Amino acid sequence: MENTSNILMQKYELGRLLGQGTFAKVYYARGTITNQSVAIKVIDKDKVIKTGQADHIIREISVMRLVKHPNVIELFEVMATKSKIYFVMEYAKGGELFKKVAKGKLKEDVAHRYFRQLMNAVDFCHTRGVYHRDIKPENILLDENDNLKVSDFGLSALAESKRQDGLLHTTCGTPAYVAPEVIKRKGYDGAKADIWSCGVVLFVLLAGYIPFQDPNLMEMYRRISKAEFRCPSWFSKRVRRLLSKMLDPNPDTRISIDKIMQCSWFRKGPNGEQKTRENRSISPLVTNHSEQQCGYESDDLPAEARQESVVPASINAFDIISLSPRFNLCGFFEDNIQKREARFTSRQPASVIISRLGEIAKWLKLKIKKSTAGLLKLESLQDGRKGVLSIDVEIFEVTPLLHLVEVKKSNGDTLEYEKILKEDIRPALKDIVWVWQGDQQEQLQQLEQQQQQQSES
Ligand code: ATP
Ligand code: MG
Repeated sequence: MENTSNILMQKYELGRLLGQGTFAKVYYARGTITNQSVAIKVIDKDKVIKTGQADHIIREISVMRLVKHPNVIELFEVMATKSKIYFVMEYAKGGELFKKVAKGKLKEDVAHRYFRQLMNAVDFCHTRGVYHRDIKPENILLDENDNLKVSDFGLSALAESKRQDGLLHTTCGTPAYVAPEVIKRKGYDGAKADIWSCGVVLFVLLAGYIPFQDPNLMEMYRRISKAEFRCPSWFSKRVRRLLSKMLDPNPDTRISIDKIMQCSWFRKGPNGEQKTRENRSISPLVTNHSEQQCGYESDDLPAEARQESVVPASINAFDIISLSPRFNLCGFFEDNIQKREARFTSRQPASVIISRLGEIAKWLKLKIKKSTAGLLKLESLQDGRKGVLSIDVEIFEVTPLLHLVEVKKSNGDTLEYEKILKEDIRPALKDIVWVWQGDQQEQLQQLEQQQQQQSES
């Protein structure tokens, strides 16, 4: 099946299976028109929804679009059918970084270059409020130019649901990269947890093995919770110092990314050459020279280039659930369409949406029965054809700048509901609605069919 050529949405020709994780299979694919190589992650929607993650997924998708950085796998497109979600991502040709480590530990300058790229990616995402929460070898890839690319950034809700399922301890293998506070299932700070995982990555790059490895899982947990690890003899003093600060079992005292970036090993590398952006602008010739010596060609883009790759948040977030073909999520809601739910996105704050709904209710002589946690219940005062007409309106925050509002009938006559929705509610919401979710059924069915063919072959 993996080798069967398969066209997805008339846009991608699916190729070989690149790998498989807990929730997903990842395929190599090529754009039929663009000829661009991509990786497509196929997620089983049922699995995600079973764990109550539907709104998280939407959030994740929105978040991933905010993250555009040379060391983060880019998300090009999201598509959904009734049963599957497809993430079309940048393809990392070089595969997993740790395949290199499996052949033996890396030289300190090589490890240093990868580590800088990793921290640049993590810092970039953190400053945009995105935490990875699942940094591990499978998620650290390389492109054809040997540049590091972190994958699955923005998929933290998936990582979370694995944990809630207890999958962390079973299907997804070793917890060796997970911070002590995460294992203890305490509420934790995503940024600090990521820093711990990056510390483990740095150790592995330099040592060629995991710091807390133990055949006995309980023993491994114990060692992680006490940060009990020993650096091999070839680790330099500066690296040891940095590692002890990153692998601090107490998240409150664990080093921050800013501090990591200020430390001399991070800035200067193993050979002691200073390499900062400031330096580059003061004396480009000197910096270029040291870069060549250390093989630091492309890990750190100039500030302007970094800036360019940042798509403004105000555009991005809105990109997502629009009817843009790049984010065709109609299939995601198909079940609900059948249940006659209507959804729209709004760029207004929740308070404005709620007050507008209040006005509409008053005008339509509906009473607002319940108003908790983003759920409003609008009810007619008199019985209709099939009892009291009751409409649920639920407001979800996708990002602070974007809300998703779901309107559905919870009681009463369907025709009556549809009429009031179409003739009264929709027009009255007009100026706060950004986009109504369309039901592009044909595309859906087409994809579903392809899906079935794929699973049958
Ligand atoms: P988990 O389910 O815990 O997230 P995972 O990260 O290993 O585990 P996936 O993200 O589904 O699972 O990825 C499976 C494998 O596919 C990865 O280990 C990697 O080798 C490969 N892969 C993922 N994304 C890409 C990509 N963009 N380019 C190339 N290979 C990729
Ligand atoms: Mg992954």
